[in-house]
Amino acid sequence: LVISDFFNFAEEMCNIFRETKEVRTGEVADYIPQLARVDPDKFGFSVCTVDGQSFNFGDAQELFCLQSSCKPINYCMVHDQLGEQKVHQHIGREPSGRSFNEMALNKDGLPHNPLINSGAIMSCALLKPELDMSDRFEHVLKTWEELSGGIRPSFNNSVYLSERKTADRNFALAYFMSESKAFPENTNLVDTLEFYFQCCSIEVTASAMANAASTLANGGMQPQTGQQIFDPNTVKNCLSLMNSCGMYDFSGEFAFTIGFPAKSGVSGALLIVIPNVMGIAIWSPRLDQHGNSVRGVEFCKKLTERFNFHNYDNL
Ligand code: GLN
Repeated sequence: LVISDFFNFAEEMCNIFRETKEVRTGEVADYIPQLARVDPDKFGFSVCTVDGQSFNFGDAQELFCLQSSCKPINYCMVHDQLGEQKVHQHIGREPSGRSFNEMALNKDGLPHNPLINSGAIMSCALLKPELDMSDRFEHVLKTWEELSGGIRPSFNNSVYLSERKTADRNFALAYFMSESKAFPENTNLVDTLEFYFQCCSIEVTASAMANAASTLANGGMQPQTGQQIFDPNTVKNCLSLMNSCGMYDFSGEFAFTIGFPAKSGVSGALLIVIPNVMGIAIWSPRLDQHGNSVRGVEFCKKLTERFNFHNYDNL
């Protein structure tokens, strides 16, 4: 077993959960009414180890939308499909140091990385463009289902409709990339953007997301089903990017002080990977000024203080 005394470990995690629950700073995202209406005090937490041990605390069975936490999975999908070289002809792999929707491209006119909006829009453009939109979306849902060990995700159509209605910045980013010829030829921008909003509007529970995170912790093999979902090299590249770019413009600080790969979303989602050990999902909607879950970041700080989970901890 990767964690031999699982009971004690779970108890310690429960303590961190209770301490973190006291934190009530930050504000829920309010750029669309569906997110503004979410109960700010919700707090779900789930763990799944690479050998399939798991536990849940709080609101771990409630649905929330993926938002930016769809980005690492879409990147893995296009990476598996096209290979490292082709993907990175369209997307960089450098932190941007800017906010997630900043109007900025790298010196080649490409998105800085796949974990900010511009890069995630590009991943959507690259994802099985030869298929119908319905099959492209089904492919994403199916992948989440497999990553979660068979839990079918939901879709929040109200969130999708709101995303689409308030999408000026994302349209601007897409046209900006189109101007610099970053997309493959024949890319339909509206289809691509709508696909991106649909991916952001997929809903999962913390429990399902922790299973997905554990697949990334386990080199792409789902611990509960044994299915190899992504190539190990794809997962390695994805984790490198989550480590350097997963927390918006707090990524450098997060890598320095906390030191493991994670990806946040403005729904308050946080997908965490402790490589070769476990996946963790946290959902708590109040956000800090970067757009990261306040309790999520707080939880990670406590986690790294109490366990040797920092990449460069001396074991
Ligand atoms: N739907 C949001 C957007 O595209 C998602 C971004 C996020 O989670 N940071 O602006």
